[in-house]
Amino acid sequence: MVIGGGVGCARYVRGLREHLRRSVTDAAIDVVVNTADDWWVSGLRISPDHDSILYTLAGQNDDERGWGRRGESDRVSGELREWDATPAWFTLGDLDLATHIARTSWLREGASVSDVFARLGSRWDLGATLHPATDAEIDTHVATEDGRRMHFQEWWVRERAGIPAVRFEQDGIGAARPSAGALEALARADVVLLAPSNPVVSIGPVLAVPGMREAVLASGAPVIGVSPIIGGSVVRGMADACLAAIGVETDAAAVALHYGARTAGGLLDGWLVGEEDPGAVAKVAAAGIACRAVPLWMRDADTSAALAVDALSLASELA
Ligand code: GDP
Ligand code: CA
Repeated sequence: MVIGGGVGCARYVRGLREHLRRSVTDAAIDVVVNTADDWWVSGLRISPDHDSILYTLAGQNDDERGWGRRGESDRVSGELREWDATPAWFTLGDLDLATHIARTSWLREGASVSDVFARLGSRWDLGATLHPATDAEIDTHVATEDGRRMHFQEWWVRERAGIPAVRFEQDGIGAARPSAGALEALARADVVLLAPSNPVVSIGPVLAVPGMREAVLASGAPVIGVSPIIGGSVVRGMADACLAAIGVETDAAAVALHYGARTAGGLLDGWLVGEEDPGAVAKVAAAGIACRAVPLWMRDADTSAALAVDALSLASELA
């Protein structure tokens, strides 16, 4: 099973699925997905990380833009803007908006977030089952250096993470519980793979749901992570602005030490860094985490599948 957020997780799961299909195993993939950057906008519930994974696995995502659906138009968003019913800086394509309308209508009828994931996941053959980390609403708010507090999407999309952040807060997370699907996935997991997702606002909030970290450790499965940092930079995105806020260097070894070694009260048994970071291997190993340097760029089906193989090999070495 995989724990992760949006784009980094989507590509990683697509690689894992590719590998499992090529090796003709009937191993199932569960994905526990971050819901902490979900947002209410224009009366609709948006779930960006879930939808990135859904569209990617369904072959429906717009690879050029990096978000939304292939072949959609901005006509509806344009109209919403004319009505002043959506922020000018937030565009959603019309096909994507249909997903949000469906999600919102099911929530209004009383469905849980888990129910919504199941319904959205049943349309295409995804080759994976997506579970929300929690059914509770735990939207992330960002406290900024200039004393403001805003929704994560306002900080990320409107401000392009340009205002230094001092804290990320998930209101209500203290009372949240892991979803039943997440707990079941952990209980049957052979291996727990942390995707190369944003450690602060994607994987961080999943693990911060009370009971989740304990369930990961209790699963008995090796926990293997992949660095989202290659050669000291984030690839695709602005995760460095999030790491800075929690005082973690944008560095493959620093992120591993942030998750910590299982043997030292942390989470990780193994960690993969890029070939660009040979120096990180010894640092991470010294902390008690088995570490290998491998190709970390997920460019296409082959490179993504190879990364999944490397993670699974490390897991079986440690099992
Ligand atoms: P988001 O929710 O859409 O921002 O996506 P995630 O949280 O899943 O992941 C974002 C992170 O994925 C980025 O900050 C990158 O560091 C990482 N990432 C994206 N593409 C790659 C890749 O090809 N290889 C690796 N190792 N990391 C990647
Ligand atoms: Ca995200």
